[in-house]
Amino acid sequence: MPVTLILEGTVRGTGGIRIVNDSCGTKVPGLYAAGDAASREFLAGLASGGGGPNAAWAISTGQWAGVGAAAFAKSLGAHAHERVMHPAGEAGLRSPSPSPASETFDSEAIGRGVQAQMFPLEKNYLRSEQGLLDSLAKLETLWQQVRGNPKQDTVRDVEFYRRAAALTAVARWAYFSALHRTESRSEHIRMDYPETDPNQRYYQATGGLDRLWVRRDWLTDAVATPPVPTIQTTPSVSKL
Ligand SMILES: Cc1cc2nc3c(=O)[nH]c(=O)nc-3n(C[C@H](O)[C@H](O)[C@H](O)COP(=O)(O)OP(=O)(O)OC[C@H]3O[C@@H](n4cnc5c(N)ncnc54)[C@H](O)[C@@H]3O)c2cc1C
Repeated sequence: MPVTLILEGTVRGTGGIRIVNDSCGTKVPGLYAAGDAASREFLAGLASGGGGPNAAWAISTGQWAGVGAAAFAKSLGAHAHERVMHPAGEAGLRSPSPSPASETFDSEAIGRGVQAQMFPLEKNYLRSEQGLLDSLAKLETLWQQVRGNPKQDTVRDVEFYRRAAALTAVARWAYFSALHRTESRSEHIRMDYPETDPNQRYYQATGGLDRLWVRRDWLTDAVATPPVPTIQTTPSVSKL
């Protein structure tokens, strides 16, 4: 029995978020995502997905992304070198107001600073409003630093400074989103809200750089039917 998969939307009927299309293409033309970068929640939902599904997701999306990227490259044909590129990144790549005289920030100290907020179980696993606010204040300080002047002398610099910005951005998104979900649900555990709130059945997206945001997409359908275990008898995967 072929496996049916829906890539767009979280689960059928939830009105969820589009992260990648059926070819694993993102909103940036020519940029394809696979594996965790394509968000494995399509497969594992709120659970960790341990035991194999995540690996299967990485391999499957890798194949789809490869096919999609190859088709995109082929579609450009002889015009491939005529495209005009506009750099979009700032944090960790270049300062909003570049000044050669200004000091660069310390990318490794940023990494350690993010880890100090993300690694301790009492901060990340046993969450509370006060704890999240304290961590967000510290992460905000780190964010102000990564908005400064990155070092760009070597390829290693480019990687490490961009990584410092990415780590800080993701940590802020995680805790900002956690702050706004005032309940415990799956792996999100709030000590001050230990119960799952049936009134908070929404998909929460978060983002933003200098100004963070959360957006809620309410689930309007009945509780999703648990998947029926099936045995795949053919190697093919069909997509809706
Ligand atoms: C503790 C733990 C336990 C897990 N247990 C399971 C399990 O039991 N079963 C299961 O199916 N899944 C499990 N997973 C999840 C699984 O490991 C991931 O879903 C899977 O590895 C994702 O594959 P990926 O290729 O998308 O990303 P990754 O495996 O994260 O690969 C990304 C690669 O990109 C490299 N990289 C990053 N930045 C750059 C850069 N700038 N330039 C070049 N390279 C870069 C990284 O070094 C890394 O090698 C577990 C994960 C963790 C953390």
